[in-house]
Amino acid sequence: MEAWRRQLDEPVSAFPIVKAGPAHVATLKTFDPPLSTLEGRQFEGARRRAKRLMFPTADGELVVLVHLMTAGRLKYLRAGEKGPKVPAFRLEFQGGAQLVLTEAGSKKRAGVWLLTPEAVEAELAHLGPEALGLGADALGEICAEESRRLHSLLRDQRVVAGIGRAWANEILHHAQLSPFALSRDLVPEQVQRLADAIDIELGRGLELRERGANDARTYRVHAKLHEPCYDCGTPIARVDYEEHTVYYCPNCQTGGRVLKDRRLSRLLR
Ligand SMILES: [Zn+2]
Repeated sequence: MEAWRRQLDEPVSAFPIVKAGPAHVATLKTFDPPLSTLEGRQFEGARRRAKRLMFPTADGELVVLVHLMTAGRLKYLRAGEKGPKVPAFRLEFQGGAQLVLTEAGSKKRAGVWLLTPEAVEAELAHLGPEALGLGADALGEICAEESRRLHSLLRDQRVVAGIGRAWANEILHHAQLSPFALSRDLVPEQVQRLADAIDIELGRGLELRERGANDARTYRVHAKLHEPCYDCGTPIARVDYEEHTVYYCPNCQTGGRVLKDRRLSRLLR
């Protein structure tokens, strides 16, 4: 990513933008301010934060933030250089050069945001690394850093970015781990299982969402109280914890124990 940033730093700041867009509906994540507000402005260069590339305008008012995910590619095309017919996102500079984002395959995971510097700040200030593709090594370090209940750790965006309460339920079920297990107690094999579960479940979610699936079809554990576990058939149970409702399979995840709200404080000790 750093190599890309260096490559783009000079060319993107050479000329003002004359045309912003078009952008694929799944790629452009913001609509206010509209893309056209970029027209006539010039970038200051290319910046990077973790896996995000950022292009602040020289007037300090706007920032284009790009997250390429795995399949996205950002390319600077000189004037006259042939590019893709339908890029996911395009900026045209004065003189004819272009910055284009393409993404192989039909899945559109890469994203472009047009933000104010303050919004970027807020977006990135306390953001942990992206959950998808995190891997067992990085996850192991996170788990060892401080001892946290897994459900609470997973949905803490400052620790790992991108997992909400529903996906925390799905992921922990897939990993066959108790929502209340302590992160420091995990053995390497369990960390590996959790890392795999994050990728598999979030990948499954993205795919279903892209096909337009609703919550009921997407989730298999979350909000499925009393429905049979997809793995073992045991009715899914529910417990309230930290203002969140946690769904889990007592057979797959808690060794047959049903967690009761009123017993929680004792169980958690
Ligand atoms: Zn089960």
